[in-house]
Amino acid sequence: METKTISVVVPMKDEADNVESLYRRVRESLPEPLQWELICVDDGSTDDTFVNLSRLAAADHRIKVIRLRRNFGQAAAMQAGIDVAVGDLVATMDGDLQNDPSDIPEMIKKLEEGYDVVLGLRQKRKDSMFIRKVPSIIANKLIRTVTKLPFKDFGCTLRVMTRDVASHMRIYGEMHRFIPVLANNLGAKMTQIPVKHHPRTAGKSKYGIGRTGRVILDLLTIKFMSSYLTRPMHFMGGIGLFFVGGAFVSLFATIAMKLLGGVDMTGNPLLLLSVLFTLAGIQLLSVGLLGEVTMRTYFESQHRRPYVMRESLNIGDDEWESIHRRRAG
Ligand code: UDP
Ligand code: MG
Repeated sequence: METKTISVVVPMKDEADNVESLYRRVRESLPEPLQWELICVDDGSTDDTFVNLSRLAAADHRIKVIRLRRNFGQAAAMQAGIDVAVGDLVATMDGDLQNDPSDIPEMIKKLEEGYDVVLGLRQKRKDSMFIRKVPSIIANKLIRTVTKLPFKDFGCTLRVMTRDVASHMRIYGEMHRFIPVLANNLGAKMTQIPVKHHPRTAGKSKYGIGRTGRVILDLLTIKFMSSYLTRPMHFMGGIGLFFVGGAFVSLFATIAMKLLGGVDMTGNPLLLLSVLFTLAGIQLLSVGLLGEVTMRTYFESQHRRPYVMRESLNIGDDEWESIHRRRAG
């Protein structure tokens, strides 16, 4: 293994009793010559998480601590940690020791075979059957179907990736569950390997069965963001056209029934249907147009590019700088 530096990012909400053992486990799992930093993000804990973290940070400078002003959620906490990471690689994991940092070296080895992201796969998941495992099996199947990504476990937070890929990801809301999809959007090469999973021994889980519904909604968002962000008209307008088509069919049917069978047009429900379809169609086409305007504003106002580059040849850093300056106008 070539000496790489790795940043281990851990979001923590009320994990006071896990802090110490987490640090110990990370230290034992990442021996020399591996260089590491442990970035703990205290996501608005109300217990002694921060106190315990500061004690460790004072003793070991490889521990970096970010304390958020309130509870922003696991995704935001993860983003905060990735933002300050300086390692060549970034590992993410839970702070409750359900993930095992001793899997990280194996994941690094796998990554060095030429991957950008290595995902953990919890083969023997140590969570309760009905509120965790069954919903997770369904969610994974659904995500696989919608995103066409082949992974068995999208929910495992233990992941190792290059910092390049990590720093390009934007993890909002509860999108930390869709990191494989976000990475795929960046053109990352991914694979999944089995990792250990332990039951929670200290602290409480922060989620209940309620997340299942949110996963389905988030899946809609992520599908839209992955496939239609730069062409919302194709999505909204596509459905709109379908409705407009339906309106015509329905209208022609009404006229044909009048001409051929003498069916009264005003009393024919198909006429009403064509009106409904027309309205729905126009609405959707308009939303599509608005989407196009919004998307342009989003990209142009922030000088975002509609592509992500892996590398470039014969274009120097200063040239890139002038390109960016020119674009910022
Ligand atoms: N977490 C967080 N902010 C939150 C909720 C959770 O930083 O608002 C952290 C939590 O401390 C843990 C990780 O995210 O380190 C995963 O949470 P949890 O173990 O509760 O999820 P589960 O394993 O039950 O899915
Ligand atoms: Mg957990």
